[in-house]
Amino acid sequence: MKDIKEDPICQHCGKKMSKWAGTQLPFGGCTTWTSEFLYVCFNDECPYFVKGWDWMWNNYHRHASYRHMLDPDTGQTNPFPVKSNDALREGITEE
Ligand SMILES: [Zn+2]
Repeated sequence: MKDIKEDPICQHCGKKMSKWAGTQLPFGGCTTWTSEFLYVCFNDECPYFVKGWDWMWNNYHRHASYRHMLDPDTGQTNPFPVKSNDALREGITEE
């Protein structure tokens, strides 16, 4: 297990990532992790998130995007799917 003491910085926008401890994923099923919480970039201006809308529409015709997510247990980053700017914000435990 990696010991991350400080909140990591999003590599796409340079903002601090938030701790997220929700359990519900909008697309469900295919994403698994063992961590108690994840780090997610909830910056609405994050280029990764901003570009995601077009990418999802062009590839899947879905009005959805994804945010930059880091699993502190493995140190791996993954896309974190969201359907709106406010989606899943209730899972944030620490800004
Ligand atoms: Zn970001």
